[in-house]
Amino acid sequence: MLDWLRAWVDYQIALATPTGQINTVELPSGRALSLIGSLGLSSALTRDGEIWIDRNEDLFEATPNWRPANQDERCAVLACSQRRLYPELGVLLPQRPIDAPDCRHCAGRGTIGDIAVCEHCLALGWVSPEERKP
Ligand SMILES: [Zn+2]
Repeated sequence: MLDWLRAWVDYQIALATPTGQINTVELPSGRALSLIGSLGLSSALTRDGEIWIDRNEDLFEATPNWRPANQDERCAVLACSQRRLYPELGVLLPQRPIDAPDCRHCAGRGTIGDIAVCEHCLALGWVSPEERKP
């Protein structure tokens, strides 16, 4: 894993306070940095660069249900977190090819409305050139 990322996550975790903007969670692998969340969804970045999510369909369920994110979830969490919280995380996203068009489903925003992740581009705001439709 990238050495800078481990140091960066450690630094962010050190800045966390119970009432501050930076929050942490305890995962099986140790303390992790909280990333984006919404109703029924939390996400976190570990020191090893793994993304974990806690998704509960039952909004009143208080028991965390953390698991490693799959590839699509990882992309969406990183893209949204990079846009809203930590621009530094953009380097962990796929690099946009120069001829990659904006996603036509979200007009390049990566979200539908203000918060719903665009499922077509996984919040990137662009699609690979091969996916361009005539
Ligand atoms: Zn999109």
